[in-house]
Amino acid sequence: MSDCLFCKIIAGSIPSQKVYEDELILAFKDIQPARPVHILVVPKKHITSLASATAEDAEVLGRMLVTANEIAVAQGSPGGFRAIINTGEIGQQEVPHLHMHIVGGPDPVGPMLKRI
Ligand code: AMP
Ligand code: ZN
Repeated sequence: MSDCLFCKIIAGSIPSQKVYEDELILAFKDIQPARPVHILVVPKKHITSLASATAEDAEVLGRMLVTANEIAVAQGSPGGFRAIINTGEIGQQEVPHLHMHIVGGPDPVGPMLKRI
């Protein structure tokens, strides 16, 4: 996956502001933060999106979820956060390497979506 932006960040060939890493996942600051806390959590293995995830990916997807609060607290959002995984064209996913946005405080992040 030599053409994948987030694979390059994982490999270290593109710099990032890393905030958490273990054997399965990497978390780094979003380059264009939408909130004071805006972190991206990615599987180290290339998975294009939730639409292409399989049962084999359950462990890494679980790790992303169970690590989210620790990352949010460490980054300055102890009172909660929102986790977002944009998926595919309808989800308006821009980077085709599965990633979870963690957006947080100090203020509430705002309404989830505009009503139709
Ligand atoms: P999405 O629209 O869900 O695919 O989100 C992609 C996110 O990646 C956006 O919030 C971008 O600001 C962020 N992004 C793009 N390039 C970089 C980069 N080099 N380092 C950190 N975040 C990035
Ligand atoms: Zn990738």
